[in-house]
Amino acid sequence: MSAFVLRGAIALLGESLACDHRRPLDILIKNRRIAAIEPAGTIQDAAVINLTGKLLAPGMMNSHYHSHEAFQKGRLENLPLELWMHYVRTPLPVPLNREQSYLRAMVSALEAIRTGSTAVLDDMTLGNFVNHEMIEGTLAAYEDLGIRAFQGLAMMDRPIIDNFPFVADYVSAEEHARLRALPRPDPAEILATTARHARERHPSSSRVAMIASASAPQRCTPEFLRQVRAMADELDLPVVTHVQETRMQVITGQLFYGKTMVRHLGDLGFLGPKTSLIHVVWANAEEVQLLADTGTTVQHNPWSNLMLGSGVAPVREYLDAGINVSMGSDGCCATFTTSMLNSVGAAAALSKVRDADYTRWLSAQEAYRAASLGGAKAMGLGKDLGTIEVGKIADLVAYRTDVPAFVPLHDPLRQLVYAERGQGLSDVWVDGERVVADGRLTRIDESAIIKRIAAAVEALVPTYEQAEASVAPILRLMAEVYKRCEAMALSIPTFGARVQ
Ligand SMILES: [Zn+2]
Repeated sequence: MSAFVLRGAIALLGESLACDHRRPLDILIKNRRIAAIEPAGTIQDAAVINLTGKLLAPGMMNSHYHSHEAFQKGRLENLPLELWMHYVRTPLPVPLNREQSYLRAMVSALEAIRTGSTAVLDDMTLGNFVNHEMIEGTLAAYEDLGIRAFQGLAMMDRPIIDNFPFVADYVSAEEHARLRALPRPDPAEILATTARHARERHPSSSRVAMIASASAPQRCTPEFLRQVRAMADELDLPVVTHVQETRMQVITGQLFYGKTMVRHLGDLGFLGPKTSLIHVVWANAEEVQLLADTGTTVQHNPWSNLMLGSGVAPVREYLDAGINVSMGSDGCCATFTTSMLNSVGAAAALSKVRDADYTRWLSAQEAYRAASLGGAKAMGLGKDLGTIEVGKIADLVAYRTDVPAFVPLHDPLRQLVYAERGQGLSDVWVDGERVVADGRLTRIDESAIIKRIAAAVEALVPTYEQAEASVAPILRLMAEVYKRCEAMALSIPTFGARVQ
């Protein structure tokens, strides 16, 4: 069906997400794009899909999650990032085959699509070598489900243990050498692998695409960051990297570079359009200006920042400076969920504890716009995705309004952000294709896949238990490093991000 009309829904239109909930619409989709938006019942000569009683929203982009965490959902809580992260980068690795990787990506994306996302950005760690089966399985899952996906490979060229200060003070020389020598993906090979996939699956033309991900500046040498930047420039790829998620990372920047990581990236020429700094919870006014001046996106993950105790990002300052903000859920080992409905609700609610001045609190509209148009802009696709407007690609989500979240119905957008958590989701279109119809996935047998996922994880539990046990020596030393860094003052102050 190359042309069809979505009839009778109310809709969140344009950048303002304006919605007249007493005015149902006809939305004509032709060759995967929105061709017309008119009052309901007025568009003729096209097949009709009846959406009476539904709310149509632009699909959200989950701009940050890690599919490699999906099988560890529920296994941990109450650790800060610097201790927690070793459980998803275990010294004893868990190398998955193609089928296991497929199922791991599938469970992440299934939850995302059932909670309002039409696109995901998966920043996947490959384990102790460049695992091509893992990459192929993951890409195949996104192909099969029908979701839009941007795949990164969390590249780094430093040993994990070298990402932290003071380690040598808390381990023997032999143990330090052992930790530094743990097997890891070859940096040149992973860079070449990213480039090869990106040539075949470019974000400007592929629904399932490869992008450039440099895991974090403290995990990469300056030379490697330059190489990632050069590859992204050559292939015109979006770039993502984790920056200043925690207070300890600000301290780490002081100790490693004598400046903040944001400034470090600026000095390397790494910042710019289509470049997203993930988190940036801890930042100061000068850094906000630098990000604005370079056209860099801030990628906001409020639920993750809560769950790992990282703090509250200065989102109002970013928006005031004209910085594009996108949103994500982050990985399921830390956050338990890839739901973007949860993330937008958390973003708008969390901003209310950051400012005594209530005129500076984020609105439902600002949060949802960051999650939809903000994500599209971060990928350089703002002209094609992120809003319901004539000419845009049809990445759309429909919600029933006869569920409690929308009854009584006064403001569809606010009720979507603060109340709906997926119960009423009925239909999803990605690239103009209906991938969820009346609550059912159209391309895959969901209950069969869920059974395969459960069986795959059950078989892997002993392996995960062994892998997680191998973290113990690192955890002991990281607890000391963390305590020491927490006791240090920030030499370059930031906006307050945490209640002390
Ligand atoms: Zn992350």
